[in-house]
Amino acid sequence: MIITLQSGADPGPVQRELIARGLWVKKLRGARNAVFLVEPGSAQVDSGALLSIAGVADVAVPQDAHPLVSKQRQATLHDGSSVGPGQPPLLVAGPCGVESPEQIEAIAARLRRVGVRMLRGGAFKPRTSPYSFQGHGLQGLKWMASAARRHQLGVVTEVMAPQQVEPVAEHADMLQIGSRTMQSFSLLAAAGSVQKPILLKRGMAATVSEWLLAGEYCLKHGAPSVIFCERGIRSFDSSTRNVLDLGAVALLAHVHGQPVIVDPSHAAGRRDLLSPLAHAALAAGAHGLMLETHDDPGAALSDGPQALLPADLAQLLAGLNSSPSTLATKVSA
Ligand code: PEP
Ligand code: MN
Repeated sequence: MIITLQSGADPGPVQRELIARGLWVKKLRGARNAVFLVEPGSAQVDSGALLSIAGVADVAVPQDAHPLVSKQRQATLHDGSSVGPGQPPLLVAGPCGVESPEQIEAIAARLRRVGVRMLRGGAFKPRTSPYSFQGHGLQGLKWMASAARRHQLGVVTEVMAPQQVEPVAEHADMLQIGSRTMQSFSLLAAAGSVQKPILLKRGMAATVSEWLLAGEYCLKHGAPSVIFCERGIRSFDSSTRNVLDLGAVALLAHVHGQPVIVDPSHAAGRRDLLSPLAHAALAAGAHGLMLETHDDPGAALSDGPQALLPADLAQLLAGLNSSPSTLATKVSA
């Protein structure tokens, strides 16, 4: 934002007033009048209100880079419920990958009664190695969709390529865009075009601005809503699988006003840290959680070390409900 003063106005009192309103400003040498540049990290203020400060002549606001995202306040799900401020947290759980009809049924059967609303599971799996389990594709998704229907759960699953979008959308209630494809622009466009809500995971080296712009692609191409999902970013430290960026969660929730959930499983990579990270996520402003859950983590075909048993998930959620930091946002139904 650029604030231009009236000619002859004393910049000192104007600067003090701007600082008092939470704006960090840099004074520029204008051709005629004094000019202030508002620095990033300043409070969000209504530009019109600044015009009433004595000595201010004009306030110029940069064009919004992601107007559709900025308009979005809540996401609407397949069942008409909303995700965002003031709503109960969205709980998504299920295995990393759908492995068999028996596996997904055993997990789905345990979720609804602890407050989980959506079943997750990869059918098309983005794996670093071509020799790792690649998922059962559409067949796996059909197993998951029928288990979800039996237990009144919604279905969210990853799409990796534009040609997967239409067949996946026939069985899924929400499309997940994974960390590795967050900036695959043709995928974002294809996913938006089938008009299902999108769960947009943050790229592991993506800035918040790139993440918001990826959301803008989805909305521009027709998605009714985008839920942002922080899943940890890469850093120099391998003590945890990734680094859970709770600053970005707070920024999305409290500054950008976006629906945002947290996936502590891929952030930590180990199940013993999921409870503290889940508490921290909700305290930072997250509107939900995604937690990998498996009926036999030791035998999981992917991401076993970070998977919870359904009983451990129930315990984690009960712990959230009795925590003073999250009492205001009860997690179970
Ligand atoms: C997943 O959710 O299974 C997954 C692959 O996540 P991410 O894209 O965050 O690595
Ligand atoms: Mn996984």
